Amino acid sequence: MVLPVLSALLVLPFLVLAHPTPNSDGPEVVKRSLPSRWYQERGHPVEKLFMRQTEPTDGVNYPAIGSPQWSQGYPPVPPDPTQMPQEWTNALNAAVNAGKIPNIPPSTSTNPQNPTPVYEGVNPGDPSVCSASYGCRAPGDIWDAPNGTIGISFDDGPSLGSDLLYTFLEGNKIPSTHFMIGTNILNNPTLFSRAFQELHSDIAVHTWSHRYMTTLSNAEVVAEFGWTMEIIKNSTGGRLPRYWRPPYGDTDNRVRAIASEVFGLQTIIWNHDTLDWSLTTQGGTTAEAINASMTQWLTGPKSPGLLILEHELTDNSAQAFIDAYPLISTTGWNILSTAQMEGQTVYLNSKDGLSPVQPFNGVLGAQYSNTPTTSSTVVPSSTAPPPAPSNTTANSNTSQSDKNKNGSTQSFVSKLAGVLGGMILTVAFYA
Ligand SMILES: [Zn+2]
Repeated sequence: MVLPVLSALLVLPFLVLAHPTPNSDGPEVVKRSLPSRWYQERGHPVEKLFMRQTEPTDGVNYPAIGSPQWSQGYPPVPPDPTQMPQEWTNALNAAVNAGKIPNIPPSTSTNPQNPTPVYEGVNPGDPSVCSASYGCRAPGDIWDAPNGTIGISFDDGPSLGSDLLYTFLEGNKIPSTHFMIGTNILNNPTLFSRAFQELHSDIAVHTWSHRYMTTLSNAEVVAEFGWTMEIIKNSTGGRLPRYWRPPYGDTDNRVRAIASEVFGLQTIIWNHDTLDWSLTTQGGTTAEAINASMTQWLTGPKSPGLLILEHELTDNSAQAFIDAYPLISTTGWNILSTAQMEGQTVYLNSKDGLSPVQPFNGVLGAQYSNTPTTSSTVVPSSTAPPPAPSNTTANSNTSQSDKNKNGSTQSFVSKLAGVLGGMILTVAFYA
């Protein structure tokens, strides 16, 4: 698909060494600072895809975040769809056989100058396809916040800007939803723990390797969702996210259906884009330009509400939000996390951030097996996701941001961490 273009290489020390402690991250012991609403409801059938045992509860003891046991079993980028748990494949097949997954051909995106996915033989704007890259809003998508509300969210974490951002969010008690890249969680466990346990935040899915989802096969789409949900579940005492945001805003009815039918995920996009991902790229936006846009949006009409795409990629992107916050907090907006604004629980299997998780009793497709879902022996490896080329055209009335870069900072973690005394080399690839 996308031709990777390596245009920047950052080597930064990250304090993310594992803190091996006894397994104690069971659902009962996970502490949250505030109730949150980013779980799927208990009893949702998708939980069955991630249970590790046949007990009536999901009360397994999860390995400590960052420990060797915790990081075992996850795939490299991109994940091999033939090496994922059989339950996921069975669930996909069941959904396909039930006619729940539209037979839309995968798009292609090979032009680095214009990475907007291209479809052959179908009209991407037709309601039967409804490509979000072409601005099509499917009925179940969330593009706007409710009137008078600003939904706060940050994409691509945990990453280089997370520490600065989290300190500010925590200090100001700002609710936020973090659409996280699975491999970034794997590579930055300490930051992930901070986001989950210290912030007034929700965790949501931003795929395993940040690719254009409509270019992938059904099985590849499942792998991108499945591994991300798996690592979030295993790192939050069993919580299964309810929401996802497509990298580059790229989704269509086939990908949406796999998200919702197999994994219970609802799509959240955005209605304004700061382009903050480009603050550190040549020819990208500037802090002044972002301030001007934010001022216009925040002082403008309150219908619809604001759903602004922002990132925790770098200190620069984090600072863009910090700079805008005084205006956000004084212009009369109801400030909620993106997941909270829908008024639903934000995880599939817990009412809020404090309630214990519950098993799913329903069945979606596959028969449950006793095999741990993380039994894969693939060693976590590094990752350099396919870069996202720049500049796009479609989706003009929303944003292009995610389209151009962002997944960018795929961390390239070397297992030198232990040798380097807690420092992990993070290599960022920008497109
Ligand atoms: Zn992204």
